[in-house]
Amino acid sequence: TSRKIRSALISVYHKEGLGPIVDGLNKLGVTIYSTGGTETFIRDRGIEVVPVEELTGYPSILDGRVKTLHPKVHGGILAKREEEHLLQLAQLEIPEIDLVIVDLYPFEETVANTEEEELIIEKIDIGGIALIRAAAKNYNDVVIVPSREDYSTLQRIIEEGAGVSELAERRQLARRGFAVSSHYDTAIFSYFNEDGELPVFKRSEMKANGLRYGENPHQEATFFGRLNEMFTKLNGKELSYNNLVDIDAAVALMKEFEDADPTFIILKHTNACGVAVRPTQLEAWKAALAGDPISAFGGILITNQPLELSVAQEIDKLFYEVLIAPDFTDSALELLSKKKNRVLLQYHHLQQQLDTFKSLLNGVIVQNTDLQTESADQFEIVTERQPTGRETADLVFANKCAKHLKSNTIALARDNQLIGMGCGQTSRVDALKQAMTKAKNFGFELKDAVMASDAFFPFSDCVEIAGEAGITAVVQPGGSIKDKDSINAANAADIAMVMTGVRHFKH
Ligand code: 5GP
Repeated sequence: TSRKIRSALISVYHKEGLGPIVDGLNKLGVTIYSTGGTETFIRDRGIEVVPVEELTGYPSILDGRVKTLHPKVHGGILAKREEEHLLQLAQLEIPEIDLVIVDLYPFEETVANTEEEELIIEKIDIGGIALIRAAAKNYNDVVIVPSREDYSTLQRIIEEGAGVSELAERRQLARRGFAVSSHYDTAIFSYFNEDGELPVFKRSEMKANGLRYGENPHQEATFFGRLNEMFTKLNGKELSYNNLVDIDAAVALMKEFEDADPTFIILKHTNACGVAVRPTQLEAWKAALAGDPISAFGGILITNQPLELSVAQEIDKLFYEVLIAPDFTDSALELLSKKKNRVLLQYHHLQQQLDTFKSLLNGVIVQNTDLQTESADQFEIVTERQPTGRETADLVFANKCAKHLKSNTIALARDNQLIGMGCGQTSRVDALKQAMTKAKNFGFELKDAVMASDAFFPFSDCVEIAGEAGITAVVQPGGSIKDKDSINAANAADIAMVMTGVRHFKH
């Protein structure tokens, strides 16, 4: 059904773009009602306008908190253009309002620009939201223009339709109205909810930061979030998409060692290629690097103690992308800052998302982040031989490493050092072979090393190969129908094997 616009209520915060609209409405002979600043703008254009106060018989009160919240306004918007409603309007001398144009108080911009709660609260638009929702609800008869972005649609109705709109157009604008109002209320909610967890990240709730490009130069990318709450960047170029992904992986793995002795981790493409816990930071760095000095080139480095000069001097010899630490000594910072591109990040706390998201198949999947970590008292010993104290500690260490490596994965460790890993393999035995090859290439003995697997062994082959290599202890979740075969193989090789019952796939 067609509806002709005969009257309009206009209340906009930003006046840009409104000129041509009111000119058009004026030409069509539309009666215009308006609020304070908007009214002045229209009158200054030489166009006749009825102050909303004249319509309501009420002044704008409480510093503008109540301007249009009145039955004379909302009655004229919400009335169905049917006999009964129109009769009521006539009795109460309420004029019909056929078009509502609103531009809301800039709440989000205010939040972005000030910390002063009082200013922010004043920018919670009440009347404007009510106008939008009322007009959108009554789209059957009323045209709602809920933001400046919708001026072009209205301009078309004014020019091409000579002020006559069609139902489909009005419904489409109503949809826009509820998009605007829900976005607005979500922004207010997220302001109040700043310390709480958000079940879903909506783009509108997150600060957007354009990245130079995505995973590859031909891909565009944006980061939505508040990185500053986690890190202070002390040096270096802008973080890239891949940097952010790697930093996230670094944080997740370091979280496992947050309270441990000095720990160093080196990552490449989200996978750790060096991890070591040692009595001193320098030893930790050297042991982490020794794990795979070739992969360390261009890596992401993270430590859990303030970075010392002696370590900075060693690191400075290497090409790395990002170095993350809870702090940097002055001398270490001075030295490392000489290379302008290298990113130095000071972390305030190692924070992980409680939920993780992945977009796929025309949708998104959300899951709780894998925040579970097994300690030695969760190990169920399934072999004749018990692991020794040293082996148990290494099993805990290796299990943490395996948890953060891409599946299928095998992590080999000895004395709190990652000595070999295979990851992202299509079979578990391939992952083991890769791990063993790496360990041997970098001069490690597999004798007395321990092995961790992110998921159960489907066959006994991995345990057999491990036994032949001299590996003496194994941690795995268990749960295969062929667990017994692996246990038998472990017993035959005098391996101590423990099961955790917890799988840590990382697809
Ligand atoms: P003006 O510049 O015309 O004085 O004010 C326009 C702004 O006031 C618009 O952003 C509109 O959404 C908002 N507004 C309209 N009516 C009311 C009301 O009754 N209460 C509040 N808080 N804001 C209103």
